Amino acid sequence: MLNIRIEKTTTPKVLPKADNPLKFGTIFTDHMFVMNYETGRGWHDARIVPYQPISLEPSAMVFHYGQEMFEGLKAYKAEDGRILLFRPDKNIERANKTNRRICIPEIPEEDFLQALKAVVKMDETWIPDKPGTSLYIRPFVIATDPFLGVRPADTYMFLIILSPVGAYYPEGLNPVRIWIEDEYVRAVKGGIGEAKTGGNYVASLKSQVKAHDEGYSQVLWLDGVERKYIEEVGAMNIFFKINGTVITPKLNGSILPSVTRDSVINLCKYWHLPVEERRISIDEIYEAHKNGTLEEVFGTGTAAVISPVGQLRWEEHIMKVKDGDIGEFSQKFYDTITGIQLGKIEDKFNWTAEVK
Ligand SMILES: *Cc1c(COP(=O)(O)O)cnc(C)c1O
Repeated sequence: MLNIRIEKTTTPKVLPKADNPLKFGTIFTDHMFVMNYETGRGWHDARIVPYQPISLEPSAMVFHYGQEMFEGLKAYKAEDGRILLFRPDKNIERANKTNRRICIPEIPEEDFLQALKAVVKMDETWIPDKPGTSLYIRPFVIATDPFLGVRPADTYMFLIILSPVGAYYPEGLNPVRIWIEDEYVRAVKGGIGEAKTGGNYVASLKSQVKAHDEGYSQVLWLDGVERKYIEEVGAMNIFFKINGTVITPKLNGSILPSVTRDSVINLCKYWHLPVEERRISIDEIYEAHKNGTLEEVFGTGTAAVISPVGQLRWEEHIMKVKDGDIGEFSQKFYDTITGIQLGKIEDKFNWTAEVK
């Protein structure tokens, strides 16, 4: 058990009004969790303190070489008043996998979970309860040594900040347009593509800007070697339904293993819907589109849960999916996963964890 010191804010902020759209990642709650690490001493000084700026040396290692891990999950207010986290064990496990890859000391799983629950409970009045809203939780670790040499740091800070977020699709699921990138790559096998770390995002910005300029909301990455096989979308994994089978790229070392992806695969198995994790080439998708067997395309990620794709652009080809409509299964996965998250559908998989 962590011994968490608590310092309550003396100047609580005004809660967002009911009509506030709660634009993703713009509003932060009253408190945050902080814990420090030092080689020889381990993780120590766990505390919940008022949300505030942190002070670091300009030479802090995180600013120069990017030694940083982050996670993203949500807390939901169930209709019966319970506060639920969705599969936090998966995020914690993935956080430590990222930590190992980028030489950050692991955080004991039970301490991590305790910290998540404690800080969410502290700011529970901030959890919005309109349909589709939630409290986004952002745990992250940064390297803090004041040092310009290249090596793993000896000191770190682990923080958890909280942000109330509105419905990703306020008017219901809305298909997105996706740009298939054939110039830049995000990650290669053996690199850090399967770690949740800022470096993967900075590598993606240039393409994202290009896609936005062309009127597309997100980028779909191809593999970094042959530029031929489907990898994933910006902050989502991708699924295709072709001729009755649900297909998603196999986790190959350069794709971030999405918790929502794993949930969709589990639901497919539960529903006896054929599901395959394998290599998929862009040519196969283009063929399926041409011969009319590309039935649905959707992304999976915590922010939107399920994001139906209405259009894919690959080189000069524009592939419309479902005429820009939402697929039946995209909707069904969305309704089921959000139903479980909100405690409205029986949690047969034991995916939710109660904060209280
Ligand atoms: C976080 C993330 C995802 C989505 O993962 P979830 O666990 O479902 O939220 C997908 N791709 C990338 C690159 C990510 O960083």
